[in-house]
Amino acid sequence: MLAQVIVDIVHENVARTFSYLIPEGMALSVGQRVAVPFGPRVKEGVIVGFSEACDVPPEKLRAVKAPLEDYPAILPCQLELARRMAENAHCPLAETLRLMLPAEMRGGRVQVRRQTVARLAIPREAVDDALEGQGRSQKRRMLLNLLRDGGKHPVDELRMLVRDPLEPLRQLEAAGLVAFSEEELLRRPGGDGPDVETPDPPLTPSQEDVLSVMLPELRQGTGRFLLHGVTGSGKTEVFIRLVRETLRLGKSAMILVPEIALTPQMVSWFRGRFGAVAAVMHSRLSAGERFDEWRRIRRGDARVVIGARSAVFAPAERLGLIVVDEEHETTYLSDRHPRYDAREVAQWRCETEGATLLLASATPSILSFARARRGDFTLLEMPRRVLDRPLPEVTVVDMRRELEQGNRSIFSGLLTAKLKDCMRRGEQAMLLMNRRGYNAFISCRSCGHVMKCPNCDVSLTYHVSGGDGQLHCHYCGHAEPPPSACPECGSAYIRYFGAGTQKVEEELHRLFPGVGVVRMDIDTTSGKDGHGRLLEEFRSGRARVLVGTQMIAKGLDFPRVTLVGVVAADMTLNLPDYRSRERTFQLLTQVAGRAGRGETPGQVVIQTYKPEDEIIAASAKQDYRAFFEREFARRRTGLYPPFTIMARLLVESPNPAMAQKRAEELHARCLALLEERPAWKKRVLMLRLDQPSVTVLRGKTRWQVMMKLLVNPAAEEFAAALTELAREPFDGAETYFEYNPTTMM
Ligand code: ADP
Ligand code: ZN
Ligand code: ZN
Repeated sequence: MLAQVIVDIVHENVARTFSYLIPEGMALSVGQRVAVPFGPRVKEGVIVGFSEACDVPPEKLRAVKAPLEDYPAILPCQLELARRMAENAHCPLAETLRLMLPAEMRGGRVQVRRQTVARLAIPREAVDDALEGQGRSQKRRMLLNLLRDGGKHPVDELRMLVRDPLEPLRQLEAAGLVAFSEEELLRRPGGDGPDVETPDPPLTPSQEDVLSVMLPELRQGTGRFLLHGVTGSGKTEVFIRLVRETLRLGKSAMILVPEIALTPQMVSWFRGRFGAVAAVMHSRLSAGERFDEWRRIRRGDARVVIGARSAVFAPAERLGLIVVDEEHETTYLSDRHPRYDAREVAQWRCETEGATLLLASATPSILSFARARRGDFTLLEMPRRVLDRPLPEVTVVDMRRELEQGNRSIFSGLLTAKLKDCMRRGEQAMLLMNRRGYNAFISCRSCGHVMKCPNCDVSLTYHVSGGDGQLHCHYCGHAEPPPSACPECGSAYIRYFGAGTQKVEEELHRLFPGVGVVRMDIDTTSGKDGHGRLLEEFRSGRARVLVGTQMIAKGLDFPRVTLVGVVAADMTLNLPDYRSRERTFQLLTQVAGRAGRGETPGQVVIQTYKPEDEIIAASAKQDYRAFFEREFARRRTGLYPPFTIMARLLVESPNPAMAQKRAEELHARCLALLEERPAWKKRVLMLRLDQPSVTVLRGKTRWQVMMKLLVNPAAEEFAAALTELAREPFDGAETYFEYNPTTMM
């Protein structure tokens, strides 16, 4: 008997199975990881099958050295998934198998370990009194609040939330409030959760309706659903009930969220209802935590998996349900090797493992909604908020009028007034300022006119850094100098849109001295729990205004937020991407949905230079259908996805000449391929060599071969050939093939 092994090396020449003898008495099974001799070295590999014979002469065969674990690390369903993905992404199986394992398992980099844990030494009810006694120590108060759940918290974990916690913890220990112990325990991100189960609230009629359709299918392991539920309609409660039923059936469930750090509530709700059967998987966990959560799932101790994109590969057995929350988010796409769409992987798993799939969003992606309309998914709707809470009242403010009236501040008179009211009433506000780096678009502050490409329906961009001073269209390559006066109305008041979150924060401090403001953007949230700390600051009420980029628009649920302001709605609308209109609608609707989730109704102010824009109007009315119909029609006439495929070969090199040379060569080879294959050529609507709008990124000069293809099997063949092309080794430049990439910057 021979073991067929995929060796953990990603290289074209090794992209096949190797046969190994099995030593006497060694019991191995498919999916098990083994150490095998490979050339002069010992490598890790995965057993993918067994065979009686092979074409290697017997005297040349070598034997498996040892199993790496005494159980198969890869489940049969995962092996099948890896095979399917390898085929689909045209890459070696070794590469997709890696997705199925926590990275730190490879090379044996994690071990089980002991650690110091802290826990309350007093009853939980006594915490409030203890907090009183902490004088001015913010740290001690924070620590007590963290330990309040009564669970055991590794000190290392507390360190991520509170800087240098040891000293204050010792002080708390000395005061008899906290106790330490040394324990060997699985690293549980976020502690053990409350030991009292949160009771289930009675369901709303829409929740009942949705569940009555889904539960029978869940019991059969069938069904693909798209749940369109407005913000605050109570989608999470639907997930919780579905998960409960899944567990009752003896199966496991998976909840995918766009980004764990931004959905702490989802995690705590699930922890609250399911306790230790819930495992959390995401990239910000430490290596050890990730490995431990993975083992809990693999052993079947954790049967509810909550995680970001890559959690879709979790070793859940007897899978009964996959939920993809906020399914419209682009974070579900991984556009680098091996490229995958977590929603698609989820669908495969559900089909092959007999599970129910639920995609959910308040603003479904054009793609998913179109599929639901076509009948690929069953469409479910929850059109109203829970407990008859009204959707927020949205006012669109015309910033051109503000300018006419002499207001040059970034806040309109209305937004300033509403902020004042909100602060006076002791409520909270959120302000969205979606400043993206690198580029600026140009618009007229008198009439709102935005400089657009004469050939494409996208705005021109000005490259703030590394540009040539021209305005560019990065779809067709058109370039022109920036105008000195507005071509529409002749005004000289032409502006680069550039103000960011920081500017908003400054303005707030000026208007409301002494009011706590939290700013969330890439600059303030780096570090392991940057998000958690800032969100806690806001949740606790210490901060009254949360200013942030799109990262604040996602599933946050703060009941005291009654006002949401969108400082510059045009900013996303005019990004040079065919999806910018879809993104804007999603962003505005989602952020508006953060207002009025508690008992007090919410108000939303959207500031724009283009109040007549139909996307802005649709988001103000929170009218998804209107948005969908318009945008779908526009995609069809403009030949954008899903009617076509956008793809590119992206070349990056620290050497500008090298990048250009490689891209030129690839461009020529694409053209040659198409000359050879007329069937492919017929499907190519556009193929062009140029630089992306971000010409230099992280010190590397970038070039691209951009293309637009018709949706067709021949185009898929061409894409496969390009994938191969991109994998060719080339000294001095890297090449990536991106297929419907999430961004084209
Ligand atoms: P969505 O994800 O649809 O925006 P959430 O799931 O965040 O909405 O729910 C919004 C709020 O409504 C949450 O605070 C949640 O606790 C509450 N909620 C959900 N279902 C119910 C219910 N059946 N009864 C009372 N409150 C509910
Ligand atoms: Zn163009
Ligand atoms: Zn103008």
